[in-house]
Amino acid sequence: MNKYLEELVKLSKFDAKISAFDPRIESENEKLAAYVNVAEEVKGNINTLETEIEDITSKISKNNMHLAELKTKLEDISKKHSAVKTEKELKALQLEEEISKEQITFANEEIIRFDAIVTTKEEQLKEFQVRLTEEETNVKELKILVDTNIENISVERNEVYEDRSKLLEKFDNKILTFYQKIKRWAVDTAVVPVKKQACYGCFMKINDKVYNEVIKSDEIVNCPHCGRILYKEVEEA
Ligand SMILES: [Zn+2]
Repeated sequence: MNKYLEELVKLSKFDAKISAFDPRIESENEKLAAYVNVAEEVKGNINTLETEIEDITSKISKNNMHLAELKTKLEDISKKHSAVKTEKELKALQLEEEISKEQITFANEEIIRFDAIVTTKEEQLKEFQVRLTEEETNVKELKILVDTNIENISVERNEVYEDRSKLLEKFDNKILTFYQKIKRWAVDTAVVPVKKQACYGCFMKINDKVYNEVIKSDEIVNCPHCGRILYKEVEEA
């Protein structure tokens, strides 16, 4: 194979590898983000439940305060009984007593109802807290794995960069410019193999004359359809 063509194939393979590193790192970070999101969701549920429990607890204490007031009121009413002079006064006092007792019953019922809600929500809260601990453990474990993977990718990337630099040290400038011009639009497919007599960049069939030139590999041949640099891929044993 033509020496320049051989180097171009190598360079293009390095460049394609380099392009693939960022998506690989991104996909590692996405894996972690998916787990972090689940943990955040659980945290959100915990916060909502805590606010709801706080809210209902405050309603319970309001009812308790109200009960204390009503209890005082009943005591006052019972004191007033001795001072009652007329039937009318007695009836009014009895009515007041009745209303207060009804209010006490209602407040007590409300407290029972709220207590039940708090109990249910506290159970849910406990479940979510257990779940959060699990999810946080998952995140921690995955982070270690992802960090290791990213580090390995970085090492691999540095190796490719190094090999690429070495290759470029002795690279012909004109050939490099030529390659970069095609790369501007073809990105990682500036240099492509010919398979089944077709360009593997544009997938068009190439004529026999060009195909023979590619097989000979004496010089750099461009695809007559798209302009990419062509090479005959060495058959794998
Ligand atoms: Zn082509």
